[in-house]
Amino acid sequence: MQTDVLVIGSGVAGLTIALKAARFANVTIVTKKEADDTSTTKAQGGIASVLDDADRFEYHIRDTLTAGAGLCREDVVEVIVTEGPRAIRGLIDMGAHFTVAENGDLDLGQEGGHSHRRIVHAQDMTGREIQRVLLEAALRSDKVHLLEHHTALNLVTAGTLSGTLPEHPSEDRCLGCYVHDTKSGEIIPMLARSVVLATGGAGKVYLYTSNPDVASGAGIALAYRVGADIANMEFIQFHPTCLFHPEAKSFLISEAVRGEGAILRTLDGRAFMEDYHPMKDLAPRDIVARAIDSELKKKGDDFALLDITHKPAREIIERFPNIYQQCLDYGFDMTKEPLPVVPAAHYLCGGVLTDLEGKSTIPGLYACGETACTGLHGANRLASNSLLESLVMADRIALSLEKEWDSLASPPDDEIPPWDPGDSVDSDENVVITHNWDEIRRTMWNYVGIVRTDRRLQRAHDRILMLKKEVEEYYWDFKITRELIELRNLVSVSLLIVRCAMERKESRGLHYTLDYPEPDEAYRKDTVINRRKYMGKQNAERRM
Ligand SMILES: Cc1cc2nc3c(=O)[nH]c(=O)nc-3n(C[C@H](O)[C@H](O)[C@H](O)COP(=O)(O)OP(=O)(O)OC[C@H]3O[C@@H](n4cnc5c(N)ncnc54)[C@H](O)[C@@H]3O)c2cc1C
Repeated sequence: MQTDVLVIGSGVAGLTIALKAARFANVTIVTKKEADDTSTTKAQGGIASVLDDADRFEYHIRDTLTAGAGLCREDVVEVIVTEGPRAIRGLIDMGAHFTVAENGDLDLGQEGGHSHRRIVHAQDMTGREIQRVLLEAALRSDKVHLLEHHTALNLVTAGTLSGTLPEHPSEDRCLGCYVHDTKSGEIIPMLARSVVLATGGAGKVYLYTSNPDVASGAGIALAYRVGADIANMEFIQFHPTCLFHPEAKSFLISEAVRGEGAILRTLDGRAFMEDYHPMKDLAPRDIVARAIDSELKKKGDDFALLDITHKPAREIIERFPNIYQQCLDYGFDMTKEPLPVVPAAHYLCGGVLTDLEGKSTIPGLYACGETACTGLHGANRLASNSLLESLVMADRIALSLEKEWDSLASPPDDEIPPWDPGDSVDSDENVVITHNWDEIRRTMWNYVGIVRTDRRLQRAHDRILMLKKEVEEYYWDFKITRELIELRNLVSVSLLIVRCAMERKESRGLHYTLDYPEPDEAYRKDTVINRRKYMGKQNAERRM
């Protein structure tokens, strides 16, 4: 199968690129499940952008740099912030309905870390509205071909075809991707002039996450395997309060509940935030997440309690109708009893290292959205900057492709050979997949979570390396399924997070370690890793 631009993922990043590239190219989008099963759909708060007369680009830039704790790339921050308003207008022109104030202007919300009101939102379902408008446009376009239930398995580069990674990624070229059709089980070689990774985050490497099940870090694992540079994987943002319930999985209890007076308590009823910060329960998100984690680890409890029962029931129901109802559905009446909560992995700041045109270090391979590390977020993401980054960077990638289209125009000489299944057989032991998946997520949660130490990281490293070997063997011996692809990516991405965390011997932004509790100027730089560093270049088997 051949296409001009192959986009992997159908969230805000993938869909925006597809629509923009459809101006001059045929685009194929492959997506793991249904097209709207994305983090984008779940985004609640909104998109940050300077649209109010009292606001200034320099204020938004300053807020982003402050959150990023010395690691943001200032040129990237400036470009993304200043191109924001145009991106928002583009969405409105396409038919997105954002909430407006009484005077007809956009209603701009305020969020933690922002010095001005600048959050464009569609009530508390902003992502759903963005996904709707983009997906409808993609489905209308006769230049965009959408393949649901198709999972990217392995990228193909000139290096992987020849069996040797070149000395430097810039000497390689991405030629396409092997894609697994979930329904038929077939593996399709797809040849493309350029490939864009837009596979979202990797929250599923952790036991508790706000991310949907599709967030298994695929783009990062795929890019790493073919030798692209990956950066800053140690910076994982945790949301402090996710409902603790086996079925709720990823239901967030908004931080606004604490804003309205809810108190965090241990299981014996002790309010503990005063031990951690003068602002108690209103302390910044990372401090609250760290405090809960510390209390859970100290006592061995599974969850903490979020208590707002001292407020009048009517007030709670009026202010939080959705949260109240959802909790009730799970068996908790928050007006009468405290809610069980745990922190949850929420956003990955690191990813495939790109420049301001979304180019990875391998020619022909781009990355956009949560999969990418552009340098916007540095060591910590400012709230609502991620949808903004996806929109602006998608536009820039499409412009870059258009500009270079003629030089990309001739199809690559190489053909991708059909997938070689080797001697693999159907697995009769799927329990191995679920068991390993569970073990990875628990190991990551316990040892590479919110508070780290050298010893915990080393323990996680050794354990995950063993799991990786086991998963690799399984991968070679048995027929490929989507679950196996996800497990393999998950174990690779976990190892990347651990390795990046081990390299950073300081605490900065979202990376906090008890062994080095302060920032250190010597580490004010990105953590960049690639496959060559760990495995040498003679390691590009055809069936990677
Ligand atoms: C609960 C929640 C609330 C949030 N709220 C906000 C907010 O208010 N503001 C904000 O700016 N950000 C918010 N975020 C973050 C933001 O939503 C995401 O960073 C952003 O939507 C990521 O977009 P994306 O296109 O990169 O990835 P996604 O939207 O996650 O899309 C990824 C796509 O890749 C596909 N995929 C994955 N692996 C493969 C594979 N191997 N093969 C084929 N397809 C694959 C998936 O199926 C999916 O279609 C929130 C996130 C969550 C989870």
